[in-house]
Amino acid sequence: MSFSGFIEEIPGLSVDSFREENFEKSSTFFLTHCHTDHTTGLINGFLNHIYANSNLILYCSSESATILKNMNPEHTNLLDNIIWTLPFNQNCFIPINGMSVGVTAIRANHCVGSCMFLFRTNESTVLYTGDFRFHWFELMDIKALHNNGWPIQLDNVYLDTTYLKQITYNFPTRKKAIHLLLNAIDDFLEFTAGQRIVHISRPANIGSEIIIQSLARKFNCQIHVDDECYNFYRGVEPVFSCMTNNPNNTFIHMCKPGKPGTNHFCNSPAALKIRLSAQWYAIQENTNWVQWEGARAVNIAHSMHSSRKELKAFLRYFKPGCAVALVIPDGYYQDEIQVELDYIACKAYNN
Ligand SMILES: [Zn+2]
Ligand SMILES: [Zn+2]
Repeated sequence: MSFSGFIEEIPGLSVDSFREENFEKSSTFFLTHCHTDHTTGLINGFLNHIYANSNLILYCSSESATILKNMNPEHTNLLDNIIWTLPFNQNCFIPINGMSVGVTAIRANHCVGSCMFLFRTNESTVLYTGDFRFHWFELMDIKALHNNGWPIQLDNVYLDTTYLKQITYNFPTRKKAIHLLLNAIDDFLEFTAGQRIVHISRPANIGSEIIIQSLARKFNCQIHVDDECYNFYRGVEPVFSCMTNNPNNTFIHMCKPGKPGTNHFCNSPAALKIRLSAQWYAIQENTNWVQWEGARAVNIAHSMHSSRKELKAFLRYFKPGCAVALVIPDGYYQDEIQVELDYIACKAYNN
């Protein structure tokens, strides 16, 4: 279950939603990032409607544009015709339904090219976060959401509610998680003799860019990824230079894990297996961010979405007029997530 894509305050635009209904009511589209649950129907939707409405436009960051084209090489022409890229942190005026709308793309700290969109009309100021991750002490660094050092007034926030219901989650910041990862590898290299291989499971096809760059810098080597992933990143720097699709070039692998018992790098007796995961951390009983299972397997907590605590801090800091839930996690109804969000937003407002 996901959000309809319509921004109530600005008719005629859709974000991260490419259903029939969106094409009937919108001619201006925005994409926050290239995870597949945000691009569903994009190619087919545009293919089906571009001839009926030649004014269809898709706005996204230039990194997302490159990845979209890499993911859909057979549709490069279509994408070149419809995509307009937005620079980060610059207010651009876009005509939508006869109205001039100010739009600013702001980095969302989620995956490469991912952005939040700040929409401004004469009537209202609205933030669409898409998927995002910010710790409370990172909020004051989001320049585009401040004016003379003060948080701007947001009338409405469309919020990444992935972990809104998870009261106990307390993830390390993304920086801290990388620090824990580098330390775990250091320990393994120090205390293990002979051939050494490190295999890190990627939580998703894209989203590990900062991790890949940090590993490459620290251990002065490229990181092996499978061909599919390698091709998605072609032209996206600096991360692409940190990758290799030749498994023999490096001792650090972030390729797709092989099946147990197969002759894959991750199953080698020389391998340290690392799992970066928010889900693992969520289900375990203790609250350690790092958990070793013997000398050759380690789990490390890592989340690309804000925790409930971070969402509360976000709402308390910006005090938006209201908030709309973007993500309805499996097992929940839209109403119950929205009620919870209203409750938290209202409490944040009154504190
Ligand atoms: Zn995402
Ligand atoms: Zn590999």
